[in-house]
Amino acid sequence: MGKSVRVCFGILAVLLAPLLSGCLGVDKITDLGLNRGIPGGLTLACLDDSVYTSMVVEVDYHPGYKPETSSTNMLQERLDSVCDKPQGIEILLTETTFSNDEIWTANDVRETGWDEKSSNPRDDSTLYWQVIFPAGTYEDSSVLGVAVDASTVAMFKDSIDDAENIFRRPSAEKIENSVLVHEFGHLLGLVNLVYTSPVEHEDSEHPGHSNNEDSVMYWAIESASISNFFSNELPTEFDIDDKQDLIGLADGSISCTDQLWRP
Ligand SMILES: [Zn+2]
Repeated sequence: MGKSVRVCFGILAVLLAPLLSGCLGVDKITDLGLNRGIPGGLTLACLDDSVYTSMVVEVDYHPGYKPETSSTNMLQERLDSVCDKPQGIEILLTETTFSNDEIWTANDVRETGWDEKSSNPRDDSTLYWQVIFPAGTYEDSSVLGVAVDASTVAMFKDSIDDAENIFRRPSAEKIENSVLVHEFGHLLGLVNLVYTSPVEHEDSEHPGHSNNEDSVMYWAIESASISNFFSNELPTEFDIDDKQDLIGLADGSISCTDQLWRP
């Protein structure tokens, strides 16, 4: 039984791997076994308040890599606007010296993220999501941020700084703002990661991403070429289709797969 399930997941992971490249690092078969889930695996836990009434976003940053206050404030606001957490959403900042300051794989991010978690992602009535801000770059250095499982994100500030063009339009701070919200959008299952939207707004050439350049889930938000697509203002909000998807998932009118928890 166990064996056939693993084989089945294996085939699934192999099929998904080429589709979910870029900022979605979900190509490791074994993680399904560890129940860390895939990005979007805790979507319902975030959208529903029947058990998880509060939420903590743990932010662990390498010395010198503290996120901009504007980024964490914006993330808190965006999560607040879509998640149902009557007891509130808290951002918990911790300076942490990571041993790796060079090249990060999806697995490195996952292992380090889980080492730094102060709690299981689901603890009593609190949902814990985590982001690390390490030194160094992702194995594909054009990736600015990555969501690697149901509760873990990494943000690569060195690459974000490099993505800023000489005109600082957009600035590294603005890029960080948008990429952080974008990666947590993946933890919310956007776009079509754990459901199929009734509206066609997933970019056909960039699975898991929006085709609307006014959505923070637009595909170019993940990449170092970001300043080629935007001369100043970057999207920082989920668009109407993203929001409608989340509303449909919350009220059950859109069915949701791969959940670690269901109401
Ligand atoms: Zn992305």
